[in-house]
Amino acid sequence: MNSHLCNRCGSCVGLSEGKIIFTDREGDYRPRVLQEPDEAHSARLLHACTGKDFNFPAYRKMFYGDSPDFHTYTGPFYKIFIAHANNEKIRQTGASGGMLSAMLIYLLQSGQIEGAVVTGMSKEKPLLTQSFMATTEDEILQAAQSKYIITSVNEILPEIAAFDGRLAYVGLPGQVQSIRKLQEISDPSVRNIRYVFGPFYGNTLHFSSVRSFLRSYRIKDYQNIQQLDFRYGEWPGNMRVEMKDGRTVELPKFHANYLIPFHIMKNSLLCTDLANEFADVSGGDAWAPVYEERGKGFSMVLGRSREGMRILSEMESKGLITLQPITVDEAITMHSHGYDLKKRGTFIRIKFRKMLGQAIPDYGYNLSGFPFSRYVMEVIIDALFMVAGTRFARWVAEQIPPPFIGKVFEKSRKIWKKATFSIKRENLNG
Ligand SMILES: Cc1cc2nc3c(=O)[nH]c(=O)nc-3n(C[C@H](O)[C@H](O)[C@H](O)COP(=O)(O)OP(=O)(O)OC[C@H]3O[C@@H](n4cnc5c(N)ncnc54)[C@H](O)[C@@H]3O)c2cc1C
Repeated sequence: MNSHLCNRCGSCVGLSEGKIIFTDREGDYRPRVLQEPDEAHSARLLHACTGKDFNFPAYRKMFYGDSPDFHTYTGPFYKIFIAHANNEKIRQTGASGGMLSAMLIYLLQSGQIEGAVVTGMSKEKPLLTQSFMATTEDEILQAAQSKYIITSVNEILPEIAAFDGRLAYVGLPGQVQSIRKLQEISDPSVRNIRYVFGPFYGNTLHFSSVRSFLRSYRIKDYQNIQQLDFRYGEWPGNMRVEMKDGRTVELPKFHANYLIPFHIMKNSLLCTDLANEFADVSGGDAWAPVYEERGKGFSMVLGRSREGMRILSEMESKGLITLQPITVDEAITMHSHGYDLKKRGTFIRIKFRKMLGQAIPDYGYNLSGFPFSRYVMEVIIDALFMVAGTRFARWVAEQIPPPFIGKVFEKSRKIWKKATFSIKRENLNG
């Protein structure tokens, strides 16, 4: 809990009957033990924890034994598609192609679920996220779009358990993995969950990112945020903050990415799951110039389980979504920089941590044998993250106009993408 292993999935808080709570959500956002749970209870909480371990090969066998295809980078799948919702409202409201929201709405309207576990912004405190159970199309759409600050979906496990009906669940990889661990032991907290969906996951940021973003615009009263969006407007969208007094600041998503090295939650750098490998269907952005130029919103989705594929096929045959199959090579090329970060960078970082005697997660698999240049690159990246994470560096960044620093960051991303373009051709079985 106190190392970088905690991914804030929220399971320990949700299952603790009030003995563990999240404190300081605007700061470090860590679970704190108020009262030590008894032994049996502790064992359950520890089992649900995916920060310390999650055996990828074992859980893949358990949940995706049928799935005909697999790649170390993407995880198991039946088919991979470029996709979008055909309903313009859903597509525009969604972060990319509106696919995750469209699937939830379809399941709800066709009577296959009674509710959906989603994550929106808090109504009482619009600067923080809030997970809840949506039971209408409107509520699902209210929670659409990506939240790039910390979320802890599984802290509502007691509400999920008490819900009267079947649920679809949406969560980040660490959160989804925890649901799978609880399903493995038939834990009552997850008995209502029928379908699991999830966005891709590059990284998540501390709330300090929003505070710092506002300070760059000389706005200090962050408590007066009226509305906070990370993907506002046409795909790929803008980071946008609206204050109670009407002041509004907005920056294109790719430029707002400059906040990442300064405010990243360090656990993101220990996660090896970019494509939400344990969801029934997972979805990311279709990052390729051919789609980015068109705007409107395009997702990449992976139908991973039989049920996930059934939902996609049903929706396609009813004209609710558009699916264009792509190959796994095309899929990896589109997210080459993300896979480089997660499937090469993370294993190198884990190796470094081990050498330094720091706690490391056990994922049941290990990738190695990367070229020496990749290790050098990692040392540079880690040094940058370390320096950028200091108070002084954050302060310096706040003095630079976001549109300028954002453009520099966007240029660096393009260079990185180019440099990692060929990773799919390298030996992955080391
Ligand atoms: C923190 C984060 C990092 C991401 N990193 C990448 C990346 O590196 N590359 C990439 O291609 N895509 C990434 N994505 C996914 C991408 O931003 C879109 O979410 C994805 O393309 C699905 O779009 P959609 O239009 O189908 O989803 P929508 O229809 O907008 O639905 C999104 C669903 O996800 C839920 N959700 C949103 N944010 C969170 C959250 N933080 N925690 C739990 N649930 C949440 C919402 O409640 C909603 O149900 C990331 C998403 C998040 C949240």
